[in-house]
Amino acid sequence: MTEDSDQMNFSADVSRLLNIVANALYTNHDVFLRELISNSADACDRLRYEAIQKPELTADESTFRIHVYKDTDTRTLTVVDNGIGMGKTELIDNLGTIAKSGTAALMEKMKGEDDPLKLIGQFGVGFYACYMIADFVTVISRKAGSKSVWVWESDGATGFNVRKATKDEEAKLDGERGTAILMNIKDDGSDFLIDQKIKDTVETYSDHIDFKIFNNPPEDTEKGEGQPINKASAIWTRSKQDVTPEQYEEFYRHITHGMDEPLMTSHWRAEGKIEFNALLYVPTMRPWDLYDPSRKNAVRLYVRRVFISDSLDELMYPWLRFVRGVIDSEDLPLNISRESLQYNPIITKIRSSVTRRILNDLDKLSRDDKAAFATFWGQFGPAVKEGLYDAAEHREGIFKICRFYSTHDDGTKFTSLEEYVERMSEDQDEIYYLSGENLDTLKSSPQLEGFKSRGIEVLFFTDTIDDFWLQNATEYKGKAFKSVTRGDIEFDKKASDNEEDKEDLDDVHEDLLENIKQVLDKEVAYVRVSKRLTDSPVCLVAMEGGVDMHMERVLKIHQKYAGDSKPVFEVNVNHPLIKKLEAADPKSADFKDITKLLLDQARIIQGEPVKNPAEFARRMSTFLEKGF
Ligand code: ADP
Ligand code: MG
Repeated sequence: MTEDSDQMNFSADVSRLLNIVANALYTNHDVFLRELISNSADACDRLRYEAIQKPELTADESTFRIHVYKDTDTRTLTVVDNGIGMGKTELIDNLGTIAKSGTAALMEKMKGEDDPLKLIGQFGVGFYACYMIADFVTVISRKAGSKSVWVWESDGATGFNVRKATKDEEAKLDGERGTAILMNIKDDGSDFLIDQKIKDTVETYSDHIDFKIFNNPPEDTEKGEGQPINKASAIWTRSKQDVTPEQYEEFYRHITHGMDEPLMTSHWRAEGKIEFNALLYVPTMRPWDLYDPSRKNAVRLYVRRVFISDSLDELMYPWLRFVRGVIDSEDLPLNISRESLQYNPIITKIRSSVTRRILNDLDKLSRDDKAAFATFWGQFGPAVKEGLYDAAEHREGIFKICRFYSTHDDGTKFTSLEEYVERMSEDQDEIYYLSGENLDTLKSSPQLEGFKSRGIEVLFFTDTIDDFWLQNATEYKGKAFKSVTRGDIEFDKKASDNEEDKEDLDDVHEDLLENIKQVLDKEVAYVRVSKRLTDSPVCLVAMEGGVDMHMERVLKIHQKYAGDSKPVFEVNVNHPLIKKLEAADPKSADFKDITKLLLDQARIIQGEPVKNPAEFARRMSTFLEKGF
């Protein structure tokens, strides 16, 4: 190993990926060109941004361009750009390891997958895709502003070599910077040695690229020969009529590296106090890292066509982090540093305007294409609901697109809050919900009996996030959300204005309630007659003002809640078992055992563990034996 030539092995992950790519009987080989052109365009974008501060970097040539051309004699296909280029370490780091978390996650997923190609399609393999059609690849690169030209070369098998470039190789570059990728085409990829194929592929996948793409070597362009083979105008600045659905889709794939289709495309120009072009997409499939704690945003910010950043978190709310696309501002100064963008009032205004638009378009989608909207809600609903917690300013718009299961359709169909409120009777002034992880368990919960028998609708909240947003967003259109497992429920306003009714019932059964309380003293706060039960003998509810029972469990899991609030034990005095209990001797062992069994039963129904399973089993067997 000399100073000028380093032979290195690929990491195991890269080898594995390359092996899959090279042997892939992939029907769609064409995508490799999209990947390379996309990288070249990124490299041009990056240099264009750097050159704002350091104009000397593009002093030799300020027009960015990409060339894709073949040489049939040597069976070589070359992709050259005059973008930012790479130095030695960058070649090693970027093309020799899987540094990107996305690809790393892909490898992780592939371990248990029989059809890894499906995943490759989903994630996009980037640069390595060229090994679908090439058996040897040479990357020649010169970092803008640097004198040395480096070469990375590999057969895509075990490793790669990095060395200084020869004079001939240097001549492959377009001017004094950028990257040339020389691919030795395998039999499989022979059609890429035909110009028409190159042109067609560029037109299909890369027409929207903002830089001119030529189908000849750079020296021909220098001589004034050849026309660009793409439109080379930023798609988001064109008017809607000039963009075909296919072009929208291709641009989506370009920015997401994904293979899914956009579920919703919003393209508009904002005019007035702030001006910007936006082309934003909602994906069909949830990205693998949607629930990553970093909640990173990936919308690209441009300022008058110059790429600025694809990781400015202030540009989008975290709960809209699944949105992809471009926002191009007319108002921001070009030479703004990425740091000073963070607290920029223009960015805040753009965010607010974009958020309103997206929510509006989603609401429209919910009316125009119910199936698409259902897909959207299934994939991204929980993320959107984080906004109820985070963004009070947009709460109304978010509530508009929220959907929940409810007792109305027996938990089979989504309902909106608007529909719920329309169905409410005159004297209902709260929105009832029951929360828990499992829809089926919720549907058969005894807490619902009284509601069902009175025809009162209850929403099912099955996402963990529901318990969190409820802390901040406590009402919808003046109607408070009320958990059916908390506090006392006043079913008939009119009847309960006559408070005596209720007191009477508790008075009439005072002895029973007191006797039960004696037995369950340590476990429950108090015992009362239930109005919510019709079929079941007992249930547990939270105290009014206390934490909802499911919420308490969630908080405990997240270790945000140390308290151990005692629930209220409600008994159904019309139930035969309770009647028998009332008639029994409260000092007897049977009374105590039955009471404790009932408590455990209530816990089980609620999805909570039985505190002492051995005791529970012993009592259970005793009574089974007696009844047998
Ligand atoms: P991604 O584009 O998703 O980052 P790729 O595998 O396509 O992944 O590329 C890996 C990295 O290699 C890029 O992030 C970039 O840093 C570098 N790279 C690839 N092609 C070029 C190029 N033409 N010019 C400069 N850098 C490049
Ligand atoms: Mg790439």
